Amino acid sequence: MDTEIFENIESEVQSYARSFPVVFDKAQGSYLYDEEGNRYLDFLAGAGTLNYGHNNPVLKEVLLEYIQNDKIVHGLDMHTVAKRDFLEALDEYILKPREMDHVVQFTGPTGTNAVEAALKIARNIKGRENIISFTNGFHGVSLGALSTTGNSHHRGVAGVTMGGVSVMPYDGYLGDAFDTTEYLDKVLCDSSSGVDHPAAVIVETVQGEGGINAASFEWLRNLERVCRKHDMLLILDDIQAGCGRTGTFFSFDNVGIKPDIITLSKSLSGYGLPFAVVLLKPELDQWKPGEHNGTFRGHNLAFATAAKALAHFWSDDTFAKEVQKKGDLITERFRDIAGAYEDHWFYLNGRGMMQGLVCRDGQLAEEITKAAFRRKLVIETSGADDQVIKTLCPLTVSEDELNEAMDILKESVAEVMKDRIKRGDAHSVSSLAG
Ligand SMILES: *Cc1c(COP(=O)(O)O)cnc(C)c1O
Repeated sequence: MDTEIFENIESEVQSYARSFPVVFDKAQGSYLYDEEGNRYLDFLAGAGTLNYGHNNPVLKEVLLEYIQNDKIVHGLDMHTVAKRDFLEALDEYILKPREMDHVVQFTGPTGTNAVEAALKIARNIKGRENIISFTNGFHGVSLGALSTTGNSHHRGVAGVTMGGVSVMPYDGYLGDAFDTTEYLDKVLCDSSSGVDHPAAVIVETVQGEGGINAASFEWLRNLERVCRKHDMLLILDDIQAGCGRTGTFFSFDNVGIKPDIITLSKSLSGYGLPFAVVLLKPELDQWKPGEHNGTFRGHNLAFATAAKALAHFWSDDTFAKEVQKKGDLITERFRDIAGAYEDHWFYLNGRGMMQGLVCRDGQLAEEITKAAFRRKLVIETSGADDQVIKTLCPLTVSEDELNEAMDILKESVAEVMKDRIKRGDAHSVSSLAG
């Protein structure tokens, strides 16, 4: 395959292309095809952007008709029929059934821009700079969002001081016995803790890039309580965990919390088109016209596919139930894979169809995903040391496809582990010896 032009003139900043060094051409459902016609199961799926699969036929039809009829593609933030249809669908299928009265802000079409808007409005409303974010959190790489992101690989290149954020331990960071919201509460009660009174807390219910760590529902409820007690806004970043990934439309649907601000992007358009929104409790909508603007706020092609995706998948709980069932299958298959080895090699984390097989080290995870790619499974790693193999397959994946992918993963683990065990587990012996 001809990759010369990518090597010659594309920036070194490319990343996923390095893990999967072929030239992809077509895609349908759960499959990617390279230009030679080889077929790959796609368990990365746009890092959670293709929850309804590649080129979903239902959404494709809407898009083709939209373009065919010369409907508005770009309209700045002017009223369009497509925008009205999207807002009506969001209200009918998502907000009203949950008794949510949030208003919808269209931001620039990336997740990080939605996060910027959320942080900006929170700081302005509360008149305070500090924001609480969590260890292993990921909220994007533009400067404001980056300052709430944990990953040193991303932070290291900021080039400026990133202030205004205090990082607190996420659920489980100090072991299962310790509820880290108690620590947060303690430092906020203590006038000498050195932590300035924050405007808001920003949190993911399951940390997508940070290693598929899932916060318990109890921890999230306690976090909300701490927010209320200390007059801080709760910003829930549902960019990756939302749109059904964890088994419900919002990842916090069954938690029993009411976030003040919610960010959504990735799978919201349904078709992989760039699109992001911020949902704000009405009293927080204190924007003045155009204060947070952007040329591509609310793209009309994305409105069209997003409205259809909400109507098609979320008008009742059929789809959510399928996701939960497939999530259970992933857990079962991961347990089977991990169970074949001694405890210290692998464990499981995540929720719904956002699950991770945590490997003892990043090297092991990389060898496994490489072995999987040789068997034509596209699957990525996440976490501080890239030690977590994460499933982000389309939620529309069939059980057969899911089992096929898990078979490939199992074979890949077996291949790599055979080698590891043969080497006499040298890694752990040398690291224990210091
Ligand atoms: C991907 C992601 C973002 C950033 O979105 P971009 O579109 O890459 O800017 C923010 N928050 C979470 C939780 C994400 O997964």
